[in-house]
Amino acid sequence: MKYDVAIIGGGPAGLNAALVLGRARKTVALFDNARPRNRVTHASHGFITRDGVKPSEFRRIAYEEVLGYPTVKHWEIGVTDIRSSEEGFVIDTSAGEQVQAGKIILAGGLREELPEIKDIREFYGKSLFACPFCDGWELRDQALVIISDQPHAFHKVKLLQNWSRDCIVCTNGAAEALNVEQREQLAARGITVIDTPISFLSGQNGMLERVHFTDGTSIERSGGFIDPAQIPNLDFSEALGYDTMENGAVITNEMGKTTVEGVYAAGDAAYVMPSQLIYAAASGSKAAMAVMADLTEENWKLL
Ligand SMILES: Cc1cc2nc3c(=O)[nH]c(=O)nc-3n(C[C@H](O)[C@H](O)[C@H](O)COP(=O)(O)OP(=O)(O)OC[C@H]3O[C@@H](n4cnc5c(N)ncnc54)[C@H](O)[C@@H]3O)c2cc1C
Repeated sequence: MKYDVAIIGGGPAGLNAALVLGRARKTVALFDNARPRNRVTHASHGFITRDGVKPSEFRRIAYEEVLGYPTVKHWEIGVTDIRSSEEGFVIDTSAGEQVQAGKIILAGGLREELPEIKDIREFYGKSLFACPFCDGWELRDQALVIISDQPHAFHKVKLLQNWSRDCIVCTNGAAEALNVEQREQLAARGITVIDTPISFLSGQNGMLERVHFTDGTSIERSGGFIDPAQIPNLDFSEALGYDTMENGAVITNEMGKTTVEGVYAAGDAAYVMPSQLIYAAASGSKAAMAVMADLTEENWKLL
């Protein structure tokens, strides 16, 4: 059987695409290897009607809705390769199965590389986060650390003042992340900057208590924000020929169409910003509409 559309990645982007396509009576092959980016966190925020929902519960509800449409089939498995064929595309799964589809939506999300600080994974998603809009409310008025060696460190500090006025900035040895003028502005507002590299973090059950530096000093902090590097999970650009950004994310137009006919992308895979569930879901919906526009034209010629 050849499916109308294969969706690679069943997070909010891929699931919302599957919902739109299932409702449009298209046959959909939905592949997901169940490694969503937010699996490290206890609750998701900022999605109306789902504020504070557990990521696993969000997915449970979404799969229940999507798989209620009989033309959508779910494989809980990874896709290892995709190539073009005369009929459209052939998808290889990690179980050695081959599936054919006329269109492809890439929605595999991204993975994060955390700063190289001992035990940081233990705290990420519990008391250390990446996005103030997702988790700032939960850390409001707390003693926060902002760990960033990125050029936008200054912007992040300014933004975080909306949630807590007790922020200490750690450049983790990358003093160049803040210039002289930015340091003056921070000092004028009583915001401390520490450039000494961090040696480790301490706390209980993922709840941060202290940040320890290589010179033996430490500061008491109960939470904070970091700037992980973000790397797209899927890279089929060589096989399929679509254009990518410098970081490997898929380049698309406003509707999620890539530079290759029949290939679309949504969510974190296409670096849809701000990187949040609601934008990922919306972009999945748009990619599905773009697929529908193309299928409608193709099918019209055959009627
Ligand atoms: C700690 C943390 C907290 C967050 N908190 C919030 C929050 O409170 N509110 C909010 O709106 N956003 C939050 N986010 C951001 C949110 O998780 C992302 O914006 C959202 O998950 C992006 O959706 P997506 O569908 O693009 O990718 P994902 O949700 O990551 O889904 C991609 C899916 O594709 C699958 N996949 C990848 N490669 C393959 C493959 N080769 N074959 C098959 N399947 C594959 C993955 O297993 C995964 O299930 C948070 C992120 C993190 C890291």
